[in-house]
Amino acid sequence: MVRCVILALFLAGCSSQETVLVSQQTVLVLSKTAGWRHDSIETGVAAVQTVCAQEGWHCIATEDSSQLIVHEYDVVVFLSTTGDILNDVEQNHLKKFIENGGGFVGIHSAANTEEEWKWFNENVLCAVFAGHEAVKSLRVDVVEREHPSTAHLEETWLRVDEWYIYDRIPQNVEVLLTIEDNDGLRPIAWCREVKDGKSFYTGGGHTKDAWSEPLFIEHIRGGITWAITP
Ligand SMILES: [Zn+2]
Repeated sequence: MVRCVILALFLAGCSSQETVLVSQQTVLVLSKTAGWRHDSIETGVAAVQTVCAQEGWHCIATEDSSQLIVHEYDVVVFLSTTGDILNDVEQNHLKKFIENGGGFVGIHSAANTEEEWKWFNENVLCAVFAGHEAVKSLRVDVVEREHPSTAHLEETWLRVDEWYIYDRIPQNVEVLLTIEDNDGLRPIAWCREVKDGKSFYTGGGHTKDAWSEPLFIEHIRGGITWAITP
């Protein structure tokens, strides 16, 4: 699963040449939509590409779900995907990838994707989009501060976003962030292991502005870091 890049090192002042193997991890970012398309997608993809470059991860950003099968990667990011975007072959490939140790990162309307795919909803997303109010400022409570996606945050985090309501409270997950408004107290970011793989989900990322918030970018960076770590 790990791409290997051969780097030839020429040592200054020395006639010998050493070859070392350096593993480079790959992040595949899918932003295909079959339903609502967020105008923040391009901004979000660019932000994730920047994070990948900073971390030394190879990044493949695509709108084409068949690329899930074509490439090898360590983490797949569903960045504001919507609707029924995967065919049966792609679904089976993604299931096998995650269960065999791959990482999944779902952002915002990833929870509004593949709603008919029971395994995905029950084991990977763990909750499905059920609605939202208008974009508003809300206090986010950081309930788990040991996780790479939250370690940079204080106990509370005030930010503006479109806050989802889900069809259920996710079960058998590690809750990272919660919110509370008229629609009740609920998790807004969580993670879990899926057999040998990992799944991280965060509900933020609706607005273009979210993708220039340093704390949100660090949250995403931490989520991918957690998912990419074997
Ligand atoms: Zn949205």
